Amino acid sequence: MNNRLIYALEVMESMFPHAKAELNHQSAYELTVAVMLSAQTTDIAVNKVTPALFNAYPNVFELSKAQSEDIEPYIRTIGLYKNKAKALVNMAKRVVQEYNGIIPNTRTKLLTLEGVGIKTANVIVSVWYNVPAIAVDTHVERVSKRLGFAKDYDHVNDVERKLKTKIPRSDWSKAHHLMIFFGRYHCKAVSPKCEVCPLSNECRYIKQKGAVTK
Ligand code: SF4
Repeated sequence: MNNRLIYALEVMESMFPHAKAELNHQSAYELTVAVMLSAQTTDIAVNKVTPALFNAYPNVFELSKAQSEDIEPYIRTIGLYKNKAKALVNMAKRVVQEYNGIIPNTRTKLLTLEGVGIKTANVIVSVWYNVPAIAVDTHVERVSKRLGFAKDYDHVNDVERKLKTKIPRSDWSKAHHLMIFFGRYHCKAVSPKCEVCPLSNECRYIKQKGAVTK
C-alpha cells in the first residue's frame, strides 16, 4: 500500500475510530432506499424521513405496489424528491420481478436497478453484504484530491480505481468510511479545519493555497 495513504488512513482512524455508515437501516431494502435518497442531500435529512416511509412501506413488495405520487409526501423535504420517488418505486418493481424481492448482492445486478449508480451499489455491497468496496461520494472524492491521492481532474471512477490500487482489498470498506468521516466532519468542502489538521503536512490543497485557512 502507498505509504502516504497508509499514514493518512491511520491518522483518520485515530480521529474517527467509530466511522461507519450513518444512514439508519435495518435491512438491505432499507439501506438501498436510504442510499438512493441520500444523493445530493445529507444523511441527517434522509434519517428524518425514512422512519415514516419505512413504516408505510416496510418492504420492497409494499413499495413495488405504490405509485410515485404516494411516496412523494414522505420525502418532500429532500432534494429531487419527485425523481427519487419514481426511482424508488421502479427499483422495487424490478427487485420483485427480477430478483424475487431480494436486494441483489453484486454491483452488476444492483446497477440494473433504476436510481442505483456505482456509488450506491458500492455502499450496498459493502455495508450490507460485507463485500470490499470503495464508494466515492463527494467526501471521498474531495479528500482524495486534496491529499493528492487523485488528480483534481480525475473522474470519480478514476478516483475509485486509484484508491483501490493503493489500498489492500480487505481495507477498502474501512477506508471508505474513514474518508467520509474525515471529509464530513473535518476536511469540509467549505471551511476545512486546516489550522488543526494533523495531515496538513501531507496536504496538496494547503500547499497550493500557500497558507493555512483559518
Ligand atoms: S489541511 Fe485542510 S484541506 Fe488539507 S486535509 Fe487537512 S483539513 Fe483537508
